[in-house]
Amino acid sequence: MQPALLHKLACPMDKHDLSLKVFAKDTNGNIIEGMLHCQHCNRQYPIIYGLPILAPDEYRQPALEGNITQRWQIELPA
Ligand SMILES: [Zn+2]
Repeated sequence: MQPALLHKLACPMDKHDLSLKVFAKDTNGNIIEGMLHCQHCNRQYPIIYGLPILAPDEYRQPALEGNITQRWQIELPA
């Protein structure tokens, strides 16, 4: 994901802006792993293999997100 994309992304639940934590970038500066955070509802959305996983609650996949949250020791809000 290119960092400039951030301002186009919004929380799928409430459409508020997201803040970004970067864990890994490639040599071109693209974000490979990171976490997007909505300060309005306190949800977090992972960036996995360069793709922001912006799924609303009913489509979230803990199995997909478990790897990154464990590896970077992030607690997802329940
Ligand atoms: Zn939100």
